[in-house]
Amino acid sequence: MSAAAGISRPSFALSVDVEDYFQVWAFSSVVSRSSWDGFSLRVGDNTRRCLDLFDNHNAKATFFTLGWVAERDPDLIRDIVARGHELASHGFDHTKVNEQTRDEFLADVTKTKAILEDISGAEVKGYRAAGFSIGKATPWAHDVLAEAGHCYSSSTHPIAHDHYGDAKAPQSPYEIAGMLEAPVATVNLFGKRVSAAGGGWFRAAPLALSKALLTKAASALDGPAIFYFHPWEIDPDQPRLNRAPLKSKIRHYLNLNRMEAKLAKTLDAFSWGRIDEALGLRQ
Ligand SMILES: [Zn+2]
Repeated sequence: MSAAAGISRPSFALSVDVEDYFQVWAFSSVVSRSSWDGFSLRVGDNTRRCLDLFDNHNAKATFFTLGWVAERDPDLIRDIVARGHELASHGFDHTKVNEQTRDEFLADVTKTKAILEDISGAEVKGYRAAGFSIGKATPWAHDVLAEAGHCYSSSTHPIAHDHYGDAKAPQSPYEIAGMLEAPVATVNLFGKRVSAAGGGWFRAAPLALSKALLTKAASALDGPAIFYFHPWEIDPDQPRLNRAPLKSKIRHYLNLNRMEAKLAKTLDAFSWGRIDEALGLRQ
């Protein structure tokens, strides 16, 4: 994408999916939504640690936040905005888009955008679907997001994956339904698409490989390399959910004790900005 006159857009966009450790999709088979209020929240403290980390490393980010979290910690929402970051929507309670009807999805995103805007006083332009769940099964999703007033979505992770992804979907930002879809970062390596975006891959890989993938993504994509992580990933002391499926536990708990240090080095390696800035959507 070309930069607008006089404004340089960041090539690396940082994003945080603000949800707690017990709200992740991988644990949904053992933790029902109705039980969420029985957990003591760690997301507020962990997100505040992210804010301090970003200040210390001169990074700006986009925080895709659950409406459920915003209602329980409104001061956190105001903090995110006051410290110069972009506040965006991650839906109300982490229900995947493909598990909702069109009308249910419209109600979800409309309600969440209103909650976030009422608390923060800031316009909420961006949306990210739980579990990157916008795809072929939800052809109406971007129409609904535009109808709710969103300007962009970062809800696709275009790789082959057992839970999400479409290895044929566009890798660079593209226009759809009068808005932008900005996929998280992927690169093509030896004829395969590989994630450069974060998640379990990032925690598993050595720092040098992660940096090389991000560098390649930023140069190859026609738009920013979008990286994401969750506040619970820098919380190695979180309570363990022993009843969860083994594969989910291996992915969730992998290298949590090393994540903050690796993240700090990754923040130092590049100049990180907000997604709305990187897409030229910030006035
Ligand atoms: Zn999420």
